[in-house]
Amino acid sequence: MNLSVIIPVYNEQENLPMLYEALLKALEPLAVAWDVILVDDGSRDGSLKVLEQLAAKDQRLRVVSLRRNFGQTAAIAAGIDHSDGEVIVLMDADLQNDPADIPMLLQKIEEGYDVVSGWRAKRKDAYITRTLPSNLANGLISWVTGVHLHDYGCTLKAYRREVITGFRLYGEMHRFIPVYASSYGARIIELPVNHNPRKFGKTKYGLERTVKVILDLFTVKFLSSFGNKPIYLFGGTGLGLIALSAAVLLYLFVRRVGFGVSVLASPLFQVATMVAIMGFQSMLMGLIAELQVRTYHESQGKPTYTVRKRINTDPSKND
Ligand code: UDP
Ligand code: MG
Repeated sequence: MNLSVIIPVYNEQENLPMLYEALLKALEPLAVAWDVILVDDGSRDGSLKVLEQLAAKDQRLRVVSLRRNFGQTAAIAAGIDHSDGEVIVLMDADLQNDPADIPMLLQKIEEGYDVVSGWRAKRKDAYITRTLPSNLANGLISWVTGVHLHDYGCTLKAYRREVITGFRLYGEMHRFIPVYASSYGARIIELPVNHNPRKFGKTKYGLERTVKVILDLFTVKFLSSFGNKPIYLFGGTGLGLIALSAAVLLYLFVRRVGFGVSVLASPLFQVATMVAIMGFQSMLMGLIAELQVRTYHESQGKPTYTVRKRINTDPSKND
């Protein structure tokens, strides 16, 4: 088994030397070959310089520097694309995740799990703006996706490579990797992990992140349930509405024939006509969504990030 640890880095210059020390302490004793892929996500501070210095000393550190700030999820995707570990561990650069937890995650992979998900049981973030909204979002994600975890947002997770490659990550989607992996048939386990307050620098996120997560949840749910056939959802709804309006029209027709009540004068006639139009519109929307989904699949080859510089990376991984 060989291991790639992937770490997105955005303005973390003070944290990086300590991160490196902590990684060495956790990884050196392991009996596996490992490397660490640090993805500089367009940092504006001295992060890239620090990474260059560390990587000059230690070949096991690979650095991918993106052309601009593409966001944490895109940085993670860049890391995955440049890695070759059979096992992939994702974690944050700010030491809020503890590298000392990595051996415990690997233990579970060795036991046969495909995804080992960290759970910040004692999360050390601002309660009102971060922890509370994230707990509510976690409950919602668990309910909607049917993949039951306490903490989707914890970056510290270990994956068997085959369950994590093959789909594109964007938005806040890195937290939904276990959901995709589950649809692939992955065995998933959640383990409580350490969580520290941030030492240096500040968080890049606030309450707005939870809103983005919930909107991404719609896409995830949509793609996993109706991803290949949106016409089933919209077309089904449309046919239902048309059937409803047909039933109302039939009722009006029977009343006209049986009791001589005028059809056109009834407000029900207008409602039924509107509902039928809505039904047709819904079916058209299904058709458009169908085309959209095909375009989505076609566009998979499009990069979600661009690279300015690579250090110690495997040249065969360059695009
Ligand atoms: N990060 C990144 N690009 C961004 C924002 C964040 O690569 O645009 C990295 C950041 O350097 C850190 C991780 O993603 O390693 C998590 O970010 P942060 O600590 O700000 O999030 P929080 O822990 O507050 O959820
Ligand atoms: Mg953090």
